[in-house]
Amino acid sequence: MCLARLRLLLACAVGVPAHAAAQVASPPQVTAIRAGRLVDVQRGEVRRDQLIVVRGDRIEAIQPGATRPPVGARVVDLSRYTVLPGLIDCHAHLIGDLTDTDALLPLQRSGAQEAFSGVRNARSTLLAGFTTVRDVGTYRALVDAALRDAIADGTVIGPRMAVAGAYVTVTSGGGELIGAAQDVTIPFEYRFGVANTADEVRERVRAILNGGADFIKLIATGAVLTQGTLPGASEYTEEQIRAAVEQAAEYGTYVTAHAHGAEGIKRAVRAGVRSIEHGSLIDDEAIALMKEKGTWLVADIYNGDYIATAGREHGWPEEIMRKNDETTETQRAGFRKALAAGVKIAYGTDSGVYPHRFAARQLPYMVRHGMTPMQAIRSATLSAAELMGWEDRVGSLAAGKLADIIAVPGDALGDLKNFENVAFVMKGGVVHKAP
Ligand SMILES: [Zn+2]
Repeated sequence: MCLARLRLLLACAVGVPAHAAAQVASPPQVTAIRAGRLVDVQRGEVRRDQLIVVRGDRIEAIQPGATRPPVGARVVDLSRYTVLPGLIDCHAHLIGDLTDTDALLPLQRSGAQEAFSGVRNARSTLLAGFTTVRDVGTYRALVDAALRDAIADGTVIGPRMAVAGAYVTVTSGGGELIGAAQDVTIPFEYRFGVANTADEVRERVRAILNGGADFIKLIATGAVLTQGTLPGASEYTEEQIRAAVEQAAEYGTYVTAHAHGAEGIKRAVRAGVRSIEHGSLIDDEAIALMKEKGTWLVADIYNGDYIATAGREHGWPEEIMRKNDETTETQRAGFRKALAAGVKIAYGTDSGVYPHRFAARQLPYMVRHGMTPMQAIRSATLSAAELMGWEDRVGSLAAGKLADIIAVPGDALGDLKNFENVAFVMKGGVVHKAP
């Protein structure tokens, strides 16, 4: 009989819970990672030849590469790689199948199918190097919260998640399932966040947060992918958005606003949202307002290209293709202006519109539209963690932080296309992918 098993039996005999004994029996695993290049996102520099010591789920120390690894440590040799904090996508959708021509697709799928789609998407997101995501919504309410919990308890492999639970949207607005006949009733679980007055907004915000969401996603304007809605048209008044912000604040959390149109962006910023999603038709006044209020911009500047290609291949409706064309380049121009004006920018991609394994594809786009490679990396690490309020845990490599660590071959900052080939993924000290 092994010693650990004997201890376990003895512990049970004297009434100590078995799990407590098991913890005593197995000290936390120690891993030493040799990093050829280590990206220090806090200082904005790349350091050569470092040794990262991971104990349990945390980074214990980062030392010069010549340091001896702790006795008994498992050594991972990434001396030919660039080692970085796990990436963070602040605009992900892990629930559901890829966007399709059929707007009512979610109605053809059972709750179990939706949940298992999340299992698949969570896994491919993590293996693409994203150890944390902010999931900004699912049509079938609260499936995201269940996925978050299943990942947290180890049932499912995936990134750490903060979730929106459901879309707060007006009737037939950008967050609704559109396309059913007028006399067909869409089930409540797909309309969980529908609210048309300030009082209804407060009531739905409470319901969503009581249901387990971490923050609120409010659809402030029409959407590119929701037929019949206009990206430039506002769907809530400033007062209604403020009702959401105030109610969320009562729960200690925040609102992020889906907003393409300039007026919708301004209303949301004035109402006090923490971030603007998309921002496709942003104008100078909205940029100045965001800068003044410290509002984050999360602009998905890659997926317009994906939609243009996939949409044409699969025969997506002309309306969606036109709205995509109308917002893709304006969004990129707005991104460039907002960046130059000093607006805070966090990485967010709208994954789910495109396959989750491509979640890093937006990084080179951000460089093409004005960022340095280090700024782009920071947007997907340090800045994203700040937007989420998780900077004490994730988003940088430092002693005491969670050991969420990835590696990319060679000098990754030389060309951010390299991030499509993330070779190593560790989340909370557990290796999920290795070269
Ligand atoms: Zn989205």
